[in-house]
Amino acid sequence: SSRDKKYKRILLKLSGEELMGEEGFGIDPKVLDKMALEIGQLVGIGVQVGLVIGGGNLFRGAALSAAGLDRVTGDHMGMLATVMNALAMRDALERSNISSRVMSAIPMSGVVDHYDRRKASRFMDNGEVVIFSAGTGNPFFTTDSAACLRGIEVNAEIVLKATKVDGVYTADPMKDPTATKYDMLTYDEALEKKLGVMDLTAICLCREHDMPVRVFRMDKAGALLNIVVGGDEGTLIVE
Ligand code: UDP
Repeated sequence: SSRDKKYKRILLKLSGEELMGEEGFGIDPKVLDKMALEIGQLVGIGVQVGLVIGGGNLFRGAALSAAGLDRVTGDHMGMLATVMNALAMRDALERSNISSRVMSAIPMSGVVDHYDRRKASRFMDNGEVVIFSAGTGNPFFTTDSAACLRGIEVNAEIVLKATKVDGVYTADPMKDPTATKYDMLTYDEALEKKLGVMDLTAICLCREHDMPVRVFRMDKAGALLNIVVGGDEGTLIVE
């Protein structure tokens, strides 16, 4: 491709819900194949890709806790769910001939590599997609925070958060037809207006370390590629 890339290294956050397709639970391999295609376009022009996948399509600690389970146990289940999603995503990437690695914040010898920042960075230098799984490894955090943390650790230039909506709106566009989209937001605005873009921990971390975040719609074909060549998809959150 002759298109010039704006970013050399990105951190892409996919929520678990993105993987479930039509069903209300689980993993739809067809959706994964589509995502692999979009990610492959980035790899094809030499962009280094780190990936954090959520687990909300399988388990969320908060929901399990509301149903009566111990919260920390529920969070552990949620983190394990992200490892399952990561394995499925690796499978889809490899079927599309995109080399990839899964690393886990929780050691899981024989299944995936334990997270190691320097190794991750080297894999990415070699053009491998690195999937960071098991979140931060700690309960009471989210995979949004994990995405920002890993992005900062491996010196990604931006965190791209894929959602169902094409950016951040003044209100929920599904419920309020008068809602309008922000092209740009500051971290402080995102925090103060409680727009529900990401959890506060994640936004604070990005603010502290000047990590820009772009929120965009993943199932819009070509959106991801458009962003890495400098296009204006969704909403950019910066200082
Ligand atoms: N989780 C956790 N620590 C982390 C990341 C995730 O305990 O650092 C647990 C938490 O229970 C969370 C679940 O894993 O609800 C799945 O992650 P998340 O809700 O962020 O997934 P997403 O909404 O992106 O699908």
